[in-house]
Amino acid sequence: MNASREIVLATANPHKVEEMRAIFASAGVPVIGLADLPGGAAIPEPSETGRTFEANARLKALVYARATGRVCLADDSGLEVDALGGAPGVDSAYFAHGFGNAAPRAERDGANNAKLLAMLDGVPPERRGARFVCVMVAAAPDGTVLAESRGHFEGRIGEAPRGSNGFGYDPLLVLADGRTSAELPPDEKNARSHRAAAARVIAPTLAALLARANR
Ligand code: IMP
Repeated sequence: MNASREIVLATANPHKVEEMRAIFASAGVPVIGLADLPGGAAIPEPSETGRTFEANARLKALVYARATGRVCLADDSGLEVDALGGAPGVDSAYFAHGFGNAAPRAERDGANNAKLLAMLDGVPPERRGARFVCVMVAAAPDGTVLAESRGHFEGRIGEAPRGSNGFGYDPLLVLADGRTSAELPPDEKNARSHRAAAARVIAPTLAALLARANR
C-alpha cells in the first residue's frame, strides 16, 4: 500500500467501506478503510455535533486526516422531510431515542420510522416529499478541506413501511416508480442512492488529487 495511492474512508462502518469501495472503484479511485491502517480502528470516533451535514462531514474528515496523516474522506447523511421543515436531518439516526442512544440499530430504525409516520399522520401524499441527503468531504492532515460534494435521493414518505432491503428509513421512502428504497435490489440502491450521487461528483477531484500526489 503506497501512502498516497488511496483515499482513506473516515468511517468505522465496514458496510459503508464496502459500498464506497465499489462505487469509487468504477471511478478509478482506490479507497481503504481506517481498519486497513495500523492503529486506524482505534482512533476515537468524533461526536457529530454539527447542525448541518456539511459541518459533520467536515468535522469527521478533519479529525481523521489529522489522526492518520492521510487524505481522508468522510460522509454524513440523513433524511429531510419537507412537511417537517427538513427534519429529522442531521438527527436522523437518533430521531426517536435522542443522541448517543446505545439501542441496537434495528431497534432505533424501527422507533425512528414509527415516530416519522406518527408525525405525518393525516398529511396528504402531495405534501409528503422527502429525500435522503449525503455530503462527502475530503480533508488533508494539515487541516485543508480539499473537496466537498452533495447527493440526493428523492421520494416521498409512504403511509406504512414496505420492503426488507437496506436499513434506516429505506422502507418509508417511496420512489417515483412506487417502490420503496427497501424494495430495490442492493445493486440498484447503491447505483441510485444519495451516496452514489455524492461519490460520483467528488470522484474526479479525488482522482486528480491522487494523480498529482503520484506525479
Ligand atoms: P450516518 O450517515 O451513518 O450518520 O446516517 C445517518 C442516518 O440517516 C442513518 O442512521 C439513517 O437513519 C439515515 N440514513 C442515511 N442514509 C440512509 C439510507 O440510505 N437509507 C435509509 N436511511 C438512511
